[in-house]
Amino acid sequence: MMATASYSSGGAAESAAEERAKTEAVFTSIGDGAIATDEFGKITRINPAALKILGFKEKDVVGEWFPNIIVTLDDAGAPVSLIDRPITRAFLTGQTVSEKTYYRTKNGARLPVAVTVSPIIYNERPIGAIEVFRDVTVEYEIDRMKSEFISLASHQLRTPLSAIKTYTHMLMDGYMGDITPEQRRSLSTIIGASNRMNELISTLLNITRIESGSISVQPRMLSLKKLAEEAMKDLDHAATSRDITLTLAHSTSDCMVRTDSLIAKEIISNLASNAIKYTPDGGSVTLKLTNRAHSVVLGVQDTGLGIPKAAHAQIFTKFFRAPNVVKLETSGTGLGLYLVKGLADRLGGKVWFTSEEHKGSTFYISLPKDSNKIAANAAGLVVRKS
Ligand code: ADP
Repeated sequence: MMATASYSSGGAAESAAEERAKTEAVFTSIGDGAIATDEFGKITRINPAALKILGFKEKDVVGEWFPNIIVTLDDAGAPVSLIDRPITRAFLTGQTVSEKTYYRTKNGARLPVAVTVSPIIYNERPIGAIEVFRDVTVEYEIDRMKSEFISLASHQLRTPLSAIKTYTHMLMDGYMGDITPEQRRSLSTIIGASNRMNELISTLLNITRIESGSISVQPRMLSLKKLAEEAMKDLDHAATSRDITLTLAHSTSDCMVRTDSLIAKEIISNLASNAIKYTPDGGSVTLKLTNRAHSVVLGVQDTGLGIPKAAHAQIFTKFFRAPNVVKLETSGTGLGLYLVKGLADRLGGKVWFTSEEHKGSTFYISLPKDSNKIAANAAGLVVRKS
């Protein structure tokens, strides 16, 4: 009996030591940087990959408070406040936090990194955290080159496209002689297609600007009601040609906001044109403005196809199109809402929606009444001088 007991306790100690050895081997051998902290954020372990990526020596780091040694920087190169750092959020929420950010290396360089911080929870409270990160400099460079290529290609496509449009309009207007009704129909198909191509080029250019952080924002005081009316006017033909009633619900005020008119209009146009596109002939699309204390909310409601529940979480993802619209062979790229979300972020606004399949959807955009400060403070943002 004794022998068995001593044998089994020896076995437990051995297996715990074995587990520790395995963990140690994993920690030191993984190619990504790994840092372990205790419950107060003091660094207890750092692996060779982390030391190599950041340029530190183990003795500089172990025993130090994590935020003191590993400085996180934002897009503009300024230190991220303690509360916004991934490690703080992981401790506060008890959840794993993953994000791309920048670290300052020992020699002061700004290094792009993809970080995942997992709190170690024991007895329902965090007793430490493990941070794993990798250097994403090459990925950033590839992304930058990709954006540069799209931007260049889009600009180059614009010139021939404007020649196509100009000559088609001249043909339509009879500058090259009389045309038959059949020829007129063909020409208007060409104009429609080149307009769509133009929109696609603008979307691509806007996306590259957003992704590179170089989109310029020029906030000025404007009426969101007037902007919504302008956007509706541009879409009037698309709606009436399909017997869709496009209206602005009665709102009491002009809904003044300080924001960028071009960007705000792009957002409204995208939401309203989606509502028209995904509403069957004879339906209705209603825009509604609501004045709140610090923001104005615009709702774009339609009586259309709606979005299947399973697709809700991905709606703002790049290139995503819900299966119900794909099945109907509607045209689209899945870039519009990704762009809307990026543009709304730049204005300090929010976008969300409610939707039921076969019944319709309402997309909302809320813009702060004064996005000036928010826009100017947003990372990497260029504020155009009025
Ligand atoms: P696109 O319209 O070019 O496909 P978007 O990014 O604008 O791309 O929209 C993404 C997807 O969201 C659409 O393909 C569609 O599945 C869904 N969607 C957007 N707006 C609506 C709407 N008003 N009604 C139903 N589905 C919508």
